[in-house]
Amino acid sequence: MTIHQEELQEQREVPQSRMRELPPMLRIEGAEAPPAPTPVPVPVPLVTGHRFLIYKQDPTVTQLGVRLVFVPTTVLNGPTDARVTTVLPTVTPVPRNANGDFVFTANTPQFDCAMVFAVVRQTLAMYERHNGGNPIPFAWNVGGNTDRISVFPRAGAGANAFYSRTAKALKFLSFTPQGQTQEIFTCRSLDIVAHEAGHAVLDGLKPGWLAVGNPPQTGGLHEAFGDLTAIFMALSQPDQADALVALTRANLHDRSFLPALAEEFGRGLGLQFGLRNADNDLKLSQVGNEVHAISQVFTGAIYDVLADVYQFEMGRQRRTKDPALVLIEVAQRLCKLLFDAIVASPATGAKYVDVANKMLQISASQGDPAVYRTFIRNRFAVREITTAATPLTDLMSGRMKMSDADYTGNGKKDVTDVETADERSASLRAEQDRSRCCGTMQMPEYRMVDAKKLARRGELTDDDILHDELEELRRAFNK
Ligand SMILES: [Zn+2]
Repeated sequence: MTIHQEELQEQREVPQSRMRELPPMLRIEGAEAPPAPTPVPVPVPLVTGHRFLIYKQDPTVTQLGVRLVFVPTTVLNGPTDARVTTVLPTVTPVPRNANGDFVFTANTPQFDCAMVFAVVRQTLAMYERHNGGNPIPFAWNVGGNTDRISVFPRAGAGANAFYSRTAKALKFLSFTPQGQTQEIFTCRSLDIVAHEAGHAVLDGLKPGWLAVGNPPQTGGLHEAFGDLTAIFMALSQPDQADALVALTRANLHDRSFLPALAEEFGRGLGLQFGLRNADNDLKLSQVGNEVHAISQVFTGAIYDVLADVYQFEMGRQRRTKDPALVLIEVAQRLCKLLFDAIVASPATGAKYVDVANKMLQISASQGDPAVYRTFIRNRFAVREITTAATPLTDLMSGRMKMSDADYTGNGKKDVTDVETADERSASLRAEQDRSRCCGTMQMPEYRMVDAKKLARRGELTDDDILHDELEELRRAFNK
């Protein structure tokens, strides 16, 4: 028998019953049925997780609106996982829907719980990626303590939000601006939730930085880290990066939702461009000892470095890579560089120059192009934070060679150790004025508790806050 004859023989052996399974329109008189397909097993996905519906910026940023996000870890009803739990009396635990997702109608209490959880979870995940995939402890996670952080999406009335180590909590308040009817919920702002989660992450990394006894610049680092967390969170999400590139024609200094922080909140207070603007030109000599303003000098310097590196990398990669992808990668690198520099900075009394120098040194050791360091030196110098190791003439004349990877300023050395510009600056010597900061910086625990105790990590109680008063009472009652 030839091979062809064998095939015919096999085809004839297809049972008649299978022929009858074909719908009539596919049956051809006299034709044999095709062999039955062998199903290919589907690999089971490695990642399980849940979908959440969230505002990608806040309710006023309609370009982005509400979107689904995928959280690739196991989340229990609450929402709760091993690090974060959500608290809203009479509402939580919020159960997952029939599909196992946390998808609810926008602005309902269930939606607020899901959104606030998802954004805190994503913020932690972003920094854990920069931490080599390892968990970052909260300030109280010492000696085997695994207590979660509790997140309160509707914690009461007020135009504020805060992180408290004593309460092990993030609390988001709501308010109705004067003369308006629409209530503004801070939990519906990705910027505000990421900012407060940033305070919690930084307090875990640097427990000594929140004490008011530090120089104003240390407080400025805390506020700036919160704002930069919101910016890097937005740029870690491909849809936001893509929308931003299209909106600004890939120019980070163009007006957009990225540098404008907490848009809805700012509008409620009558501010045109968010509560704060990261794309600012503030210098240290303009801000005194007011921590909120001082923070904007640091945030602005990092934002400018981000824009510089993006322009440089677009020049290098625009023919081989999508501009949104270049932006995501640049933001990721800069966020990790800042994260590593902060981890390597002093445990107490950290100054902007400390973080700048660690950024320069880590950048050099990991082999970044030399021009990255020139961008960092220039931006910190022009804001009067550090001395100018690279002449600022090219930057100030607008003739800086943005595409030269080796540019260090007319043959100058690639310096990785710069000095403070003005040791007598109020931002270093005065007391911290926190009156215009977010709720975190106003918490009594960071003013009242002994700085050394704060820096040691560990749990805090109300008695720690009232320590001095209680001591006085003890002495009085002992008489
Ligand atoms: Zn803050």
